[in-house]
Amino acid sequence: NLTPKPDIEIARSVQPQSILLLAQQRFGLPAESLVPFGHYKAKLDMTYVDTSEAAPRGKLVLVTAMTPTPAGEGKTTTSVGLNDGLNRLGVSSSVCLREPSLGPCFGMKGGAAGGGRSQVIPMEDINLHFNGDFHAITTAHNLLASLIDNHIHWGNEAGLDPRLISWRRVVDLTDRSLRNLVCGLGGKAHGVPRETGFDITVSSEIMAILCLAEGRLDLRRRLSNMLVGRRADNSPVTVGDLGMEGALSVLLKDALQPNMVQSLEHNPVFIHGGPFANIAHGCNSVMATRASLALNDITVTEAGFGADLGAEKFIDIKCRHSGLQPDAAVLVCTLRALKLHGGVPRSRIANPDAEALRAGAANLERHIQNLQQFGLNPVVCINRFPGDTEEEMELVQAICEDLGVTAVPAEHWACGSDGALELAQAVLDELGKGKPDVRFLYDDSLPLAEKIETIATRIYHASHVEFTATARQQLREYEALGYGYLPVCIAKTQYSFSVDSSLMGAPSGHTLPVREVRLAAGAGFVVAVCGEIMTMPGLPRRPAALDIGLDENGLVVGLT
Ligand code: ADP
Ligand code: MG
Repeated sequence: NLTPKPDIEIARSVQPQSILLLAQQRFGLPAESLVPFGHYKAKLDMTYVDTSEAAPRGKLVLVTAMTPTPAGEGKTTTSVGLNDGLNRLGVSSSVCLREPSLGPCFGMKGGAAGGGRSQVIPMEDINLHFNGDFHAITTAHNLLASLIDNHIHWGNEAGLDPRLISWRRVVDLTDRSLRNLVCGLGGKAHGVPRETGFDITVSSEIMAILCLAEGRLDLRRRLSNMLVGRRADNSPVTVGDLGMEGALSVLLKDALQPNMVQSLEHNPVFIHGGPFANIAHGCNSVMATRASLALNDITVTEAGFGADLGAEKFIDIKCRHSGLQPDAAVLVCTLRALKLHGGVPRSRIANPDAEALRAGAANLERHIQNLQQFGLNPVVCINRFPGDTEEEMELVQAICEDLGVTAVPAEHWACGSDGALELAQAVLDELGKGKPDVRFLYDDSLPLAEKIETIATRIYHASHVEFTATARQQLREYEALGYGYLPVCIAKTQYSFSVDSSLMGAPSGHTLPVREVRLAAGAGFVVAVCGEIMTMPGLPRRPAALDIGLDENGLVVGLT
């Protein structure tokens, strides 16, 4: 039955198993290999996991989605449900997810530990602070900012131009008032005044580095390569030039270890790293994925937002950097999102509307074709919401059949693994067809501007890209400095293929305006900031925070 019981109540109704016992029973890992945070959460000491080239490695299943509504279409929920379904079918499988950010928790979207009967527990711990990784990343990021300002205060030996410092500060909250600031006010004793601002922690280059690093040495190397700013002659100054990478790597040494928790059905879940897919690269850490691949026959992983963002970056950034490759993909859709893309206003997407479903399928079709460009033929998961009718579910299945892909209805949100068995079987069938020939969208050697144009035209179906003069100039500079081989990470709204978040369906012929470009030399990509997207989001008129609190027993209420 489709009961809309609050996520947190469902989560709390299940007693988690000891995480040490779970790791021992499932993976044969000794207790010493886990660093427990209480009884149900632990960090994994990677020295106990053989991730070498020669070691056996399971298959990787990417979960992605059509263009989402603001509530989300259920990728995390589906990843957790699919993993529970696979385990029910007797497959050794784990799921790799990203860590929730406090910004959406208290803002619009809520937590990110799944929903209904497909959740990860302890849900409130995972959504709030978790094992401290975000705090470590935030602190490392801000330590660097303070070291830079201090360097300038004490004579600026490196010759940094205070107007050309690109390193900002971060906080894991959505706080629009911090976007643009002047720091160092108050006179000579209080530093050198300069313009700066805050971004949300999930967009920090250090977050991306933690997610792409292969280990401690690689982490340190990447930190050292980060650019902090320029001298008056425009020459770059890196963290390594200032000798600051050691202190940063110390703050990150524990955060680098993947976190292990469990689903409501006591299947292992790795949650590590948390970049958003609209303003960052949107994938969990390479280290967690490698650990899971080494320990399981199948690893399910989620990449953020729609496949235009998360899946593209998963392949063109995460896979390119790490050599990992997906063996199958699941594309999540909902009747609500299809109706939204078929022109129905958000207030009415819960009502039946066959016409709108058919029209909205254009969005789904575009994502299917895009995944096929990467060499992946997705299994479509129709994530059923309460009130979704049988007729509408069948209609979407028929539409997908016409598009030549398998579509499976799934009710894991309402029923847990029982509702995901058909999906799990469809994924096994897809994996049984053999390894797909996964290809990147562009070669390393393509000039940076052309990489952006390739994504814009082939994935977003834009007719062209409009660079500001500064953006063009910066791209040329990055190439002159030897960074032209890097992949690009597009920052753009998650609500449309275009930069106009109200443009639904499958728009073509639009323009992709590139407002600004940023070099993330340590993470290893160039960020192209498009349209109005902000690397520090704001809170909505009525933030979720207003419904969250503690009850008389000290338990969290209102977290979704
Ligand atoms: P995504 O990872 O794609 O952003 P989530 O899995 O976090 O999406 O789900 C977004 C929200 O929708 C969550 O609050 C979740 O509980 C809810 N949700 C997901 N699937 C369903 C469903 N089938 N029925 C009702 N609510 C759902
Ligand atoms: Mg999610």
